[in-house]
Amino acid sequence: MADFIIAHLYPELMNLYGDRGNIICLQKRLEWRGYNSYIEAISPGCQIEFNQYDMIFMGAGSDREQKLVVNELVHNCSDLKLEIEQGLPALFVGGAYQLLGKYYESSDGVQMPGLNLLDFYTQREQNRLIGNIVLAASLHGQPFTVAGFENHAGRTYLEDKEIKALGRVISGFGNNGEDEQEGIWYKNLIATYLHGPLLPKNPILADYFIEVMMNRKGITFASRLDDHIENFAHEQIKKKVLG
Ligand code: GLN
Repeated sequence: MADFIIAHLYPELMNLYGDRGNIICLQKRLEWRGYNSYIEAISPGCQIEFNQYDMIFMGAGSDREQKLVVNELVHNCSDLKLEIEQGLPALFVGGAYQLLGKYYESSDGVQMPGLNLLDFYTQREQNRLIGNIVLAASLHGQPFTVAGFENHAGRTYLEDKEIKALGRVISGFGNNGEDEQEGIWYKNLIATYLHGPLLPKNPILADYFIEVMMNRKGITFASRLDDHIENFAHEQIKKKVLG
């Protein structure tokens, strides 16, 4: 029996940018703390019982796969919304981020309905926003930086001022290349354009999710890991981007 069960939503569809590395990172960091975890791959056609999982993850995909996934998830989105509201940890990256909103435009300019979990929308422009990106973020009042790589044609606009961005863009484009915001951080849901993958190079975020998962099971999050390699990788991107 695994200590933690993480649902990986549609890995055979939403797998365009190597975001599966986020799952591997979470699993290893739990293992290094003495906990085992089971990653349940959710395939099209599966009925999803979100309350069975300690965390939900979905990676990025092309517009075609995004459309397939929305049609799948639309039948479950009230349960997903309820669990998110109740603090279920969740990480949605790239196209998975986009489909959480009211709508997003695909490459053929068709406006596709999203899951409407939160008040934001995504519209598409011709030129893609591509490159390394560094954000200023904070957790429990402590500032930290987030480093990653973005590649998206979609421009995402947050409509609800109550929705906090994951971070402020220090270098890069972010949600739309205009408002200096990137991603969203709502309760224990983080949705972001940052690939890389995100968590191995940002151990603060990886441990944030692990701490939430542990706390929800009444397990005290104590041991800090030796992150000198992860932090070196993080600093290398910052040096490359910020000079
Ligand atoms: N296909 C979407 C876009 O181009 C999402 C890209 C991504 O997941 N990085 O905006």
